[in-house]
Amino acid sequence: PTAADDDLLRGLNPPQREAVEYRGPALLIVAGAGSGKTRVLTHRIASLLRSREAWPSQILAITFTNKAAGEMRERVEQIVGDSARGMWISTFHSACVRILRREAEQFGFTKAFTIYDSGDSRALLKRLVRDREADSLGLTPAGVQSRISKLKNELADAESYARDANMSDPAERKFVEIFGDYQRELQKANAFDFDDLIAQTVFLFRAFPHVADVYRKRFRHVLVDEYQDTNHAQYQLIRELTRPIQGDAGGGMVFEDAPGASLTVVGDSDQSIYAFRGADIRNITEFERDFPGARVVLLEQNYRSSQNILDAANSVIRNNFDRKDKKLWSDQGPGEQIVGFTGYSQHDEAQFVADEIETLRRSGVDYQQMAVFYRTNSQSRALEEIFIRAAVPYKIMGGTKFYDRAEIKDALAYLVAVANPADEMAVRRILNRPKRGIGDVTETAIARFAADNGMSFRDALAHPAEMGLGPKLQKSILHLDAVLREATAVLLPASGEPAPPTAVTEGLQVLLNKSGYADALRMSRDPQDEARVENLDELVAVTREFARNNPEGTIVDFLTEVALVADTDDLDDESGAVSLMTLHTAKGLEFDAVFLTGVEEDLIPHRISANEPGGPQEERRLFYVGITRARKRLYLSLAMTRAQFGEVTVAMPSRFLQEIPSLLIDWKQSPGDVNSRGGLQSRALNARRPGGSAGDRWGVKPLPAGGGLKPKSTAMEKFPGLVTNKVRDNGDLELAAGDRIRHDDFGEGTVDAVTGEGAKRIAHVRFDSAGAKKLLIKVAPIAKV
Ligand code: ATP
Ligand code: MG
Repeated sequence: PTAADDDLLRGLNPPQREAVEYRGPALLIVAGAGSGKTRVLTHRIASLLRSREAWPSQILAITFTNKAAGEMRERVEQIVGDSARGMWISTFHSACVRILRREAEQFGFTKAFTIYDSGDSRALLKRLVRDREADSLGLTPAGVQSRISKLKNELADAESYARDANMSDPAERKFVEIFGDYQRELQKANAFDFDDLIAQTVFLFRAFPHVADVYRKRFRHVLVDEYQDTNHAQYQLIRELTRPIQGDAGGGMVFEDAPGASLTVVGDSDQSIYAFRGADIRNITEFERDFPGARVVLLEQNYRSSQNILDAANSVIRNNFDRKDKKLWSDQGPGEQIVGFTGYSQHDEAQFVADEIETLRRSGVDYQQMAVFYRTNSQSRALEEIFIRAAVPYKIMGGTKFYDRAEIKDALAYLVAVANPADEMAVRRILNRPKRGIGDVTETAIARFAADNGMSFRDALAHPAEMGLGPKLQKSILHLDAVLREATAVLLPASGEPAPPTAVTEGLQVLLNKSGYADALRMSRDPQDEARVENLDELVAVTREFARNNPEGTIVDFLTEVALVADTDDLDDESGAVSLMTLHTAKGLEFDAVFLTGVEEDLIPHRISANEPGGPQEERRLFYVGITRARKRLYLSLAMTRAQFGEVTVAMPSRFLQEIPSLLIDWKQSPGDVNSRGGLQSRALNARRPGGSAGDRWGVKPLPAGGGLKPKSTAMEKFPGLVTNKVRDNGDLELAAGDRIRHDDFGEGTVDAVTGEGAKRIAHVRFDSAGAKKLLIKVAPIAKV
């Protein structure tokens, strides 16, 4: 190995090195959180490039977010320099968009296709459900949308679904019809929805092997991060890409036969949190069967978190059945205790979080190294209110996204109407924005004229006189038509010359200003509209930045980028703000300090998971993902009452809290404290839940049959999970590290440490045969020997 190789491998432990240096057809790296999986993937790419075993263009690396892709690219460039250009490091969706843009013409689309986000497809389905009068059969747009999405993730289309469906059921028949309509409408609009991006790429590869071979020949190394969250369609895409090259596959292109690309996947079954979107954990558990001869590397050392945090994570995830136990350890020492807090209300909880953030800040932790997680987006509101009052700078990842705002969607619809005039929904959207007096009747007249004359809805806008409309309406429609033409001339110069880098900005300005859209907002007296104008200015700024970063970028490139912006993409390390996000968004990230809020029954595990098969286990994995994002400090907080949807409910501590050994948590205010002081006791404790009384939820663990007395100590209630089935009053038994003791059940052992004070003192004991246990000294059946 050269000095350069040393440099690349230094800072890796032996199994990590093995994974970086292994050369073979298939490699699986499975390991728990924070063990360096992503780092290994990055170094593996760098190693392939540096040794010149691969050109950058031969590498395809798939990450879970665009943000992760950007980081990985940056890291590789740091290691090997500029020679890393030309690699494809992207999400599944971005990679597929690139492929589809190149190949769209092969199957009846154009390069300028639109990407429908879930709001767009919902709007389309709303129309189709209405047209087919399907609501009387109990079909809703949302329900149909989620079924179609699931089917696409399974690579099923309307026809294949119809073959297996019970077509004598009218609702099923209707669903199949709508699914078919939906696909036809998408095709007509030259559009793909998000799930199509993957599914259609697979269909493309299957239908045109010579096209697939182009990519198989190109990508000799395929690497996938977060493999545990791939769904069936993504799995099949990987299979297609890594198939051996068949030589003359038709289409006039002749390649030499070649083996399939080498495939590296990394993942952690314990972090699989997207089953609800069709992620299939079997992709990872059955990797060795799918790719015979695959090398498997296990990583066991965690470099991210202190031991206390890891212990908490391990003791939670251990409760999932049907999993392989992993040994995850850290050499960073125990670190700080986890801090627990129970607020009277979610505002009280939020206040605690804000106070702690300020304390951390004063002790030298930067805001951007802190994150606050919650299970559902709606929980962010209470936090935001308090943060604003306390002047804590924060940023929300995901949630109400900039690009989801109505005015931004309108502006983008204008751009789409120019870039992809076939996208009828975009044209319809801008028809009466700003208000031009064009109502449903006129819209229908335009649509009818278009259909009668075999032209698109967009082209029909040039012929209002032939639709029998009044002069005012005619003028409005012709004006819109003229504005779209003017913008088209700016955005898509006819001569085949490339548009200048300023084109997107100019085109957008033409559309917003000449259409009267911007003026209508400026002149409005609604204070909300002032903010909308600012948002549009922000969008113009986004186009300028796009032009700076992509001097040759076209309007289509811009719209692609916008459509693919994922939840975490605005995570900006220089922002100097605390990051707020859902647990799902937190995957793969790390922070010095993490606040996991709303640790309550019905939130985590979420109520809706209770009836889903595997739901509670997936929720536990989500909780595990949250815990393992923390490097040094972890806060677990909850509220005893929570106001949601105008109703105040009494919350119960999450069952997952009970799975964490109590001595790992330092409760600043425990649920018990709140009950005894807050007057909530009767309500909180009398609320009955399936699976036991509230007392059991937050009391000691239920005693095993034939067990001893249940101690009446409040201290006990704060330490669920302790061994308490034999009870004795030891008074003030003095114990210290090194002491030998005898336990009625566990026999003799050595005290490793004593923590806590007074009635809460805990002995950490290593028993000679029964292993390590934690005992509440006051009541444990122990004596010194
Ligand atoms: P997750 O499961 O959460 O995605 P991961 O397994 O991908 O985690 P990484 O994010 O690659 O883990 O690594 C976790 C942290 O540990 C990172 O900060 C990384 O730089 C660091 N790290 C990994 N391996 C080593 C090592 N050998 N020496 C020092 N630091 C390391
Ligand atoms: Mg990772």
